[in-house]
Amino acid sequence: MGEKQSDRILEILWKSYELAGNFAEMNAFIFAKFCHEIFDIRIRFFLYSDMHREKVFLNEARVILQNLHLFNNSYNQAIEQKHLDIPLVKEDRIPFWFECECGVKIEIILIDSFTGLARCPSCNKEYLLEFLENFENLSTYFHNMDFNAVSRNMIMADGLGDSLFLSGSGGSLQYGHISDRISENLGFHLPVTFAWRSQDFYLGMVHNGAIHDLRKQFFLSPDDFLSGTLKGKILGSLSKIQAKITDAEVAGDKKEVKYWSGMLNNSKNQISMIKNIFATTPSFLDLLENLSGEEIIHAWNLTLDHAEIGYMNRVCQVSGKINYHTHLLSDLPSDDMSVIYENIKNIEVG
Ligand SMILES: [Zn+2]
Repeated sequence: MGEKQSDRILEILWKSYELAGNFAEMNAFIFAKFCHEIFDIRIRFFLYSDMHREKVFLNEARVILQNLHLFNNSYNQAIEQKHLDIPLVKEDRIPFWFECECGVKIEIILIDSFTGLARCPSCNKEYLLEFLENFENLSTYFHNMDFNAVSRNMIMADGLGDSLFLSGSGGSLQYGHISDRISENLGFHLPVTFAWRSQDFYLGMVHNGAIHDLRKQFFLSPDDFLSGTLKGKILGSLSKIQAKITDAEVAGDKKEVKYWSGMLNNSKNQISMIKNIFATTPSFLDLLENLSGEEIIHAWNLTLDHAEIGYMNRVCQVSGKINYHTHLLSDLPSDDMSVIYENIKNIEVG
C-alpha cells in the first residue's frame, strides 16, 4: 500500500500510453496490466483490432451478412418487444463499422445485394465495398471493419464457443437482449450470461476531507455519520443561523443580516458540495490510490459471498454493495460505509 502501489500504477499508465496507438488500446492495456500486475489475476487478453487484422471471425461475420434481413428484423423486434431505449436500425444497415482513413468509424449501408457503401461524415471520403456473390470477397475489407455491440456479442460467443459470458450491467445488458434474440433466430450459440450490479462504498482522501470539514463546521461526532442524527443536527444548526438572521432583521441591523446570510449560504454550499462528492461514481484509479490490490479483491469476495442472485431475461444477475475497508478516519468503523453514504445523501439543505 501507499507509495509503492501508486508508483506501480503510474508506471503502468505511462507504459500503456507509450505502447498504445489510440485511446481504446491504452484503456485495454491499462485494464490488462492492472489484472496481471496489481491483482495477480491470470487472464489472457486479446485486442479486437488484432483479431480483425488476422481475420479470425470471418466466417461468422459472413453468415450474419448472408442473413442481414433476418438480423435487422430481429434487431428491431427485440427493441419493440422489450421496450429498449435503443434506436431502430434501417433495413439495409450492416452491423459492422468501417474505419475511415481519417480514423473515424462509419456506418455501412448495403446499396444492392452484395455491395456496401460507407461515407465518412468527417472527411467526406466514400468507400464502395464490393463483397461479391454471397459475400465471398468480405476478407478484402475485413481488416478495416469492426463489429458493433450486437454483432460482437453474437460473433464472439459463436466463434469462441463461450460457455459463460460476463456482461456489463448497464447498456450492454440492453444490447444483450437484442443479440440473444438474433442468435436464437440465426442459430448462433448462446452462452450463459452473468452480470454484477454493484456500488462502491469507501472513504478516499476526497471523502475524508469532506467529512472532516463537515464535522468542523457543524460540530459533529463520528456517531452522527453512522446513526440517524446527522440530518437533524445539520438542520438544527441551519435553523439557528436562520434565527440569527430573523433577529437581526427585526432589530434592523443590516450588517448582522448580511453576516448571517453569508454564513447560511456558505453552509448550504458546503453541504451541496459534500453531497455531490458522495453521489459521484469514482474512478477505479481513486480506489487504487486509497486501497491495496489485496484489500480490493477481499472486498469483492466478501460481497460475492453475500450477494443477491436473480435470474432475469436469460441473465444471471448478482447484486451487492461493495464495502471497502477504510484507513482514514480511524474513529469511524469501516464495516458498513454505505450507511455513511446514505446519511449524507439524506441531508436536506432546503
Ligand atoms: Zn474520414
